[in-house]
Amino acid sequence: MSLPGQLYKLQQIDIELQKNQQIVAEVIHQLNEDRALVTAESELTRQKQQLVEAKGKQKNAEWELEDLQERFNHLNNKLYDGTIKNPKELVNIKHEAENLKGKLSTKEDEVLELMSQVEEMEATVKAGTKEFQGLKQEWQQTQENLNRRKVEVDTVLTNLNENHRELAQQINPEALNLYEQIKLTKGQAVAKVEQGRCQGCRITLPISRWQKARAGDLVQCNNCYRILYLE
Ligand SMILES: [Zn+2]
Repeated sequence: MSLPGQLYKLQQIDIELQKNQQIVAEVIHQLNEDRALVTAESELTRQKQQLVEAKGKQKNAEWELEDLQERFNHLNNKLYDGTIKNPKELVNIKHEAENLKGKLSTKEDEVLELMSQVEEMEATVKAGTKEFQGLKQEWQQTQENLNRRKVEVDTVLTNLNENHRELAQQINPEALNLYEQIKLTKGQAVAKVEQGRCQGCRITLPISRWQKARAGDLVQCNNCYRILYLE
């Protein structure tokens, strides 16, 4: 293979290398991407916390209700068991009992309201848990696929690096150095010549120049300085 031919082949390997490095970078980026899952999990945690708080409120209200009920029963017994004879005292107790009855009714409404809130929250947590589990499963599947993809591309990269190394060893160091230098500034160091034109910058080349390149000499484009290659 001619020197320009070797450099052109090296360039093709390097293009493939770059492409696959980008793929790996993208795969790694996606592997680290778990924002949607983290957001869903913290939302679920928040809902569970709210449910615990609501259940606590309900429990307290139920205790208060029991307490009111006991006090009411106690007064009611007093009213009707005949132990209190004083009419004034009886009237007072009756007022107190009525007052308690009003409080009881309010507390009962409160307990019912809290119970329905808790039920609603339980349904929300249940649905949220199911949704989160689905999301997590999906995420794990994606992670598995991405990891598999990474292993594949890593293997391709290893092979390409090996190919690059082997080919570079066969090319004289000066030419290789020139190739690397042009690559740094131009991205691609070797340009094909087609119909007398440099395909790197599209300029029409002097015939003598591309004929030399075809003969296997190391010739650069007089405009863009890329190394010229003719098949
Ligand atoms: Zn050119």
